[in-house]
Amino acid sequence: MIEPTAGNTEPQRLICFLTGERRTSSAQREDLCAPCASVFYSEVEDGWVHHARVLPLIVVEEVEVAARAAAIEYAIRDVVVPAVELEKQGHDIIRLNIGDPLAYEGLPTPDHMVDSYKKALDNQDNGYGPSYGFPALRDAISASENGKGWSCTSDDVYVTHGVTEALQIIFAAFLENGHKVLAPGPHYPPYMAYPQMYGATTVEYRLDQNDGWRIDLDDIRSKMDDSVRLLVLINPNNPTGNVATVGEIDELIEIAGEWPKCTIIADEIYDGFDFTGSLVSVASRSDEVPVITLNGVSKVYFAPGWRIGYMAWHDPRGRLGLVRDGVERLLRSRLCASTPAQHGFLAGLTEEMGWLEGHRARVQERLDYCLERIDQIDGLECQAPGGAFYLFVRITDPALAADDKQFVLDLLHEKHVLVVHGSGFSPEFGAGHFRMVCLPEISILKEAFSRIEAFLEAR
Ligand code: PLP
Repeated sequence: MIEPTAGNTEPQRLICFLTGERRTSSAQREDLCAPCASVFYSEVEDGWVHHARVLPLIVVEEVEVAARAAAIEYAIRDVVVPAVELEKQGHDIIRLNIGDPLAYEGLPTPDHMVDSYKKALDNQDNGYGPSYGFPALRDAISASENGKGWSCTSDDVYVTHGVTEALQIIFAAFLENGHKVLAPGPHYPPYMAYPQMYGATTVEYRLDQNDGWRIDLDDIRSKMDDSVRLLVLINPNNPTGNVATVGEIDELIEIAGEWPKCTIIADEIYDGFDFTGSLVSVASRSDEVPVITLNGVSKVYFAPGWRIGYMAWHDPRGRLGLVRDGVERLLRSRLCASTPAQHGFLAGLTEEMGWLEGHRARVQERLDYCLERIDQIDGLECQAPGGAFYLFVRITDPALAADDKQFVLDLLHEKHVLVVHGSGFSPEFGAGHFRMVCLPEISILKEAFSRIEAFLEAR
């Protein structure tokens, strides 16, 4: 490592210790690393202290990155970069950033699903499968969706590498330059990240943070126009945990019904974590408006690493024939979803679901504990979620709330607790918050809250 000398203004190539951010710079005092806001250099009495490695300046012509890739942000994993650096330095980080139940005790993938996956491997079931998914799995998914109150045939189901791949395919098939996706603010980040790849934009409709993050239907109404091709409902919502009522869903469908080019995306991946008892499938409420339901193994079946999900198309008036043809072309061109993982999911869908009660009770207990602790901490507030396994916590001190990303980075560096800044879920409606998962065992949550409390007390 080279220490620059005081007053050195020669351009140098810098790389931030924490994030790996690169910069060619004249070693100015105020030179900040964009992702983590650390100062690359700071001046002290007798010269420079480095907060960054300094690389010799080599003039290279870098290959340009496509704008669509450079614009991608995924807050949930972006904050992991500085956390990993701290871990490399030997610090023990409590990770409350990612909605992966397998990262915590007591929430395993059920044995019968794992056995079925293993059996597929033992049987050499490792070949390519049909592009839309195995017929038996498509049958089981359609039966499951029928059980949620709408008429879904096997042909309406397409198996994908997770809901995330389904989203990419849907956006690719629906969106052109100038189109809009109307998504809840705040929302799961890919709804913002991907549409711009097709020249479209994501516009957020407001969830009311003062009223349990309920959907602001008037805001949706005011933002609808002919260019809105997809209207998204995430139910229960990530990150807020709000569960939409039947009345709200009916009204949302009615609004969409006024715009014949609009299709509803119903992301119901957390539907097994409904603590209100009132959750309904959006497709089950629609007689006319097309609804594409998204779900999979990642949350309710506790197997996110398998990367299996699906889309189920409800198109009562047959409006989506052309776009569906596009979706099928895209599915064929990406071959198929993972073969053995589909067997695992099939076992999950066809065998009894009694095991879920234990998992759900554990999640509920951990969630209740978090709410209780937040209630006791000065400087934090949280609306109780109706579902999913996150808390979207408000930072009440306006000075700290003004830069929620800095809050998250300071908490990470000082107390080694990793959460995600609310503005990463919505710059407009999520700022001033952070999202934490409630999945760890109580002993870990207890330690995390002690650290968060101490962090706030020191401010
Ligand atoms: N949809 C929502 C609302 C999510 O929160 C997540 C993951 O956190 C996903 C989709 C990802 O689903 P998958 O793992 O099936 O790609």
